[in-house]
Amino acid sequence: MNKLLSKLPKVDSVLNDYKINEYLKETPRKIVVETIRRVIDLYRFRILKGELSEITYDEILEEIYRQLELSTRPSLRRVINATGTVIHTNLGRSPLSKSALEKIVEIGCRYNNLEYNLEEGKRGSRYSHVEDLLCNITGAEAAMVVNNNAAAVMLVLSTLAKGREVIVSRGQLVEIGGSFRVPLVMEQSGAILKEVGTTNRTHLHDYENAINENTAAILKVHQSNYRILGFTEEVDIESLIALSKKYNLPLVEDIGSGVFIDLSKYGLSYEPTVQNSVKKGVDVITFSGDKLLGGPQAGIIVGKKKYIDAMKKNQLTRALRIDKFTLAALEETLRLYLDEEKAVKEIPILNMLTISREVLKKRAQKLSRMIKKQISEDRVNVTIKMDFSTVGGGAMPLETIPTYVVALEPKRKRVEEVENELRKKEIPVIVRISKDVILLDVRTIFEDDYEVIVDNLNSIL
Ligand SMILES: *Cc1c(COP(=O)(O)O)cnc(C)c1O
Repeated sequence: MNKLLSKLPKVDSVLNDYKINEYLKETPRKIVVETIRRVIDLYRFRILKGELSEITYDEILEEIYRQLELSTRPSLRRVINATGTVIHTNLGRSPLSKSALEKIVEIGCRYNNLEYNLEEGKRGSRYSHVEDLLCNITGAEAAMVVNNNAAAVMLVLSTLAKGREVIVSRGQLVEIGGSFRVPLVMEQSGAILKEVGTTNRTHLHDYENAINENTAAILKVHQSNYRILGFTEEVDIESLIALSKKYNLPLVEDIGSGVFIDLSKYGLSYEPTVQNSVKKGVDVITFSGDKLLGGPQAGIIVGKKKYIDAMKKNQLTRALRIDKFTLAALEETLRLYLDEEKAVKEIPILNMLTISREVLKKRAQKLSRMIKKQISEDRVNVTIKMDFSTVGGGAMPLETIPTYVVALEPKRKRVEEVENELRKKEIPVIVRISKDVILLDVRTIFEDDYEVIVDNLNSIL
């Protein structure tokens, strides 16, 4: 044991290593020294426990390189989404369009007119930059934006219903991923939840019977990520509008994943558009910026001017406010919507959701060819299969979109091992496993990432 311990290198001698010196050029000395010390300590510990009967300098050095690689890796990194889930909440929801990203760079590294009115040379409002665009696209009288849709719902309820009752159907008291729960958001906003109906059925008279002198609003929440099937009933938006008019109450709709384009034209199922709700007369509508809209994280509120004006004055707005980078990306994304064709082409998630099957097939063939060229058949079996992608982001939970996947059957490793190693690469690839086969859904893979995938697979398999 003493002989082994005496073979452990000193930190100073490791610091003289050529490759360590390369690291020192880019990594703070403190981190390099700490990493070396940590690895040597770990070896000492394992020797004392009797776990090691032999050590070599080279092996310790290799481990130091590996640990340095890990400790200098940023925590937030780009990944390749091969899952086929287009709006993948765990993988950053919507990737931004190129133009939106360029706008962030332009606005972010210079001064800008975030709160300055250039016409009048005096203080302006940050909300003005997107309000006209939002009104133009949705047909609403007024609009504002906050940090995310959860914040939007909270702001609306706090403004319209603090200390008073808001009527919601029991079938709409949903929990969205990341612990957005309608009843808890409502509690935080200071509004009092008045549940009506049952889990599966709510009728118009349930709403009407619940109205009293302390009622402040009626709220309709999009069920987003789940559906109740079978003996069910929810009151349609037209009846809720008529009811809210009769009692002079604002009708608030949380659409969740707001969409501006009727996606049924592209073979997807119909999702009510924001314009549709505005036109029908819903008073206040809230939705996310980074779900089906395909922009940055944001909560968008559109509706009647008197309500939006009240929200702008709410003190909570200051705490929930949107920042300049988001605003830059949002304005640019909204601009793309002025021309629907352009939006579908340039907003990545809309593009992915509307790619034709022929194009998907061609892409799967290309990726499979590239893999086969680098990796021999005795290491992996590569085939192309038809499969289904999902929308994700709490939108269209039952929708499955036909797609093509490249299916991999590794010959020398278990699929779980391959999945795990792909996840730990410098540019991680997140895949789906089905029936002991690894699936790469080309719908959500950017074409210029194919090479990275092939390289990663080559080194793993
Ligand atoms: C996603 C969703 C939210 C939360 O939106 P965030 O932008 O993630 O805060 C709220 N309500 C509904 C119905 C949703 O689908």
